[in-house]
Amino acid sequence: SVVTRFAPSPTGALHIGGARTALFNWLYARGYGGKFYLRIEDTDKARSTDENKQAILDGLTWLGLDWDGEPSSQAANADRHAAVAHELLDQGKAYKCYSTQEEIEAFREKARAEKASTLFRSPWRDVPESEHPDAPYVIRIKAPRDGQTTLHDAVQGDVTWSNDQLDDMILLRSDGSPVYMLAVVVDDHDMGVTHVIRGDDHLANAFRQNLIYDAMGWNKPVLAHIPLIFGPDGKKLSKRHGATGAAEYQAMGYPAAGMRNYLARLGWSHGDDEFFTDAQAKEWFALDGIGKSPARFDFKKLENICGQHIAVAEDSALLQEISGFLTATGQLPLTERQSDGLSRALYCLKERAKTLPELLEKAHFILTSGPITPDEKAAAQLTDVSRGILSELTPQLQNASWSRDTLEEVVSSVAEANDMKLGKLAGPLRAALAGRAVSPSVFDMMLVLGQEETIARLKDASA
Ligand code: GLU
Repeated sequence: SVVTRFAPSPTGALHIGGARTALFNWLYARGYGGKFYLRIEDTDKARSTDENKQAILDGLTWLGLDWDGEPSSQAANADRHAAVAHELLDQGKAYKCYSTQEEIEAFREKARAEKASTLFRSPWRDVPESEHPDAPYVIRIKAPRDGQTTLHDAVQGDVTWSNDQLDDMILLRSDGSPVYMLAVVVDDHDMGVTHVIRGDDHLANAFRQNLIYDAMGWNKPVLAHIPLIFGPDGKKLSKRHGATGAAEYQAMGYPAAGMRNYLARLGWSHGDDEFFTDAQAKEWFALDGIGKSPARFDFKKLENICGQHIAVAEDSALLQEISGFLTATGQLPLTERQSDGLSRALYCLKERAKTLPELLEKAHFILTSGPITPDEKAAAQLTDVSRGILSELTPQLQNASWSRDTLEEVVSSVAEANDMKLGKLAGPLRAALAGRAVSPSVFDMMLVLGQEETIARLKDASA
């Protein structure tokens, strides 16, 4: 059965590219009923921090990419990694190399002068143990020097490398610590990883990692190296293009479901489908749908997809997203009164909101408490004339039954009596009820606010 993993290095927060890699692994595992593990690659002690690790977990949690079991720490497995290096040593597939830094540098200098390959060729590769000095050594793998290696990649196809480009890479440093390349292979093997889906910046590593699989005689996972994400201008996505951190998208209020949908489409496709649910994505996701060329991040498309997700979201899910958003951005949680109001209003807020802040802005009329203070635009609507008309409307609403049909009738008749179009009356009415230009329709607001509150606001505005 399928086992995938996301293996971030906690040397930074969760990047949008990393989030996409995690998503692909998650979709693949979930679609096949497999496991999705999280492995924190914290072997670079100087640059790894707990804050970054936490930010990565938070980002994945926000995106709803739940992992199986506890996140593992690569650094914690160092003994196991070292044991594998010693096993290869015992089998004669690796050797102790006593070359000093100076000797390696001298080798390279000579090679440069002769315009030969600067890949270090250790003189210790075939020296019998009996002739070894009592000195510090590293353990190197014996890499093949002739021929070529072809790796099949589910995205890139067959990729071939000439073996003379592979050096006898170090497995264990002279202080006995394992190198990253060894750790990745051992961990993937021990975790039973069947599919390695990661950025194509790791493709060259795959050839070096392959040496270890071959030497150990281990089953190799399916490889899928996905093209990096580019900005709209076709250059690698960077801060110049806009936000690159997952947390920044959360703070901008993009709903997680929309983010998942958009990120899934970034480099992967299923026919012409742009908008889909998680269930569909899990069912459809396959490695052969991943494109070979870099996807371009399209902010407009992201907003469009997010808007569609908000529009169809279940109320409970949306309320949860909103409360998560408020917490993540350091805002006060909703009071019970606000939650109730928002629940009643959601039906008319979902349309046309591309982000959660946009939705909340539209919800101002129900979230606010106390008398409405109109903003500048709204205040301009409340002229003497329009306030006069609102005061005509108030008593009629007092006697009206509170249904959409009746409200439309009453407001239309007052507009007609004043020789104005309904749309013209909507301006001051909106200003009175919401105090701002952005809101749901006046009838939706009246229905959500109820008769008493509507009339109180109209009286305030026309007083
Ligand atoms: N820790 C590596 C990284 O950040 C990932 C290695 C892998 O997926 O094999 O990018």
